[in-house]
Amino acid sequence: VTITELEKVYESGDERTTAIEDFSVTVPSGEFLGVVGPSGCGKSTLLYLVAGFLEQTTGTIAVDSDPIDGPGTDRGVVFQDYALFPWRTVMGNVTYGLEEKGVGKEKRQATAQRFIDMMDLDGFEDKYPKELSGGMKQRVALARTLAYDPKILLMDEPFGALDQPLRESLQDHLIDIWRELEKTVIFITHDVEEAVYLSERVLIMTRHPGTKKTTVNIELDRT
Ligand code: ADP
Ligand code: ADP
Repeated sequence: VTITELEKVYESGDERTTAIEDFSVTVPSGEFLGVVGPSGCGKSTLLYLVAGFLEQTTGTIAVDSDPIDGPGTDRGVVFQDYALFPWRTVMGNVTYGLEEKGVGKEKRQATAQRFIDMMDLDGFEDKYPKELSGGMKQRVALARTLAYDPKILLMDEPFGALDQPLRESLQDHLIDIWRELEKTVIFITHDVEEAVYLSERVLIMTRHPGTKKTTVNIELDRT
């Protein structure tokens, strides 16, 4: 993912809020990048721009040198609030993206089952989201995103609503998945410790009112 001189200004009426300014970063294929910073520094805005849910004011975002044009199946998003389809079962949620991609029923079910098993959700295929705990819901959301095989995983405080033991077990699970599936991950969190634990590189976004924003890159040695 190559982000070049990105700027995002929200406008409503006379009010203009600069959420991202003069922001450039390259995320090599397969990297796990953590992004931290205080509330309001523009983390979610950055993620939604890369997801293609928002349009930037200026600058470019490219995946494999192609500028993005809205959302695409090369990028999968995981949200803090899970955003599962309440009217679909676990299986129905996980097969959703494959349906959208036009994958046939048998292949869909087999692929979904692989990710359901990977997320330790076997036996829960026919449950509805309201029957599941928060940690299970987030595992369903992750399985749903992984099932349609995006190259890039975009995660916005995915474990923010979970208690500490659950967070730690999902963090470890995510590291295993990242290693096994060789995804590029951009992981947003306000928790520095979480970012350092998970990431190969941590990008710190700061907020300096009235001046240009700065970002700081910290490379971590995971060995
Ligand atoms: P973070 O995720 O780091 O908390 P956000 O990306 O949510 O930061 O917000 C960055 C800035 O943009 C904040 O000043 C916020 O108030 C503003 N902002 C976010 N979304 C909107 C919006 N839809 N309209 C106007 N301002 C917004
Ligand atoms: P110590 O107190 O000896 O410094 P901790 O009790 O913090 O160590 O950590 C114990 C174990 O938990 C270590 O194996 C460490 O890798 C792991 N660990 C620490 N922080 C986290 C975290 N945020 N998520 C998952 N595991 C963690």
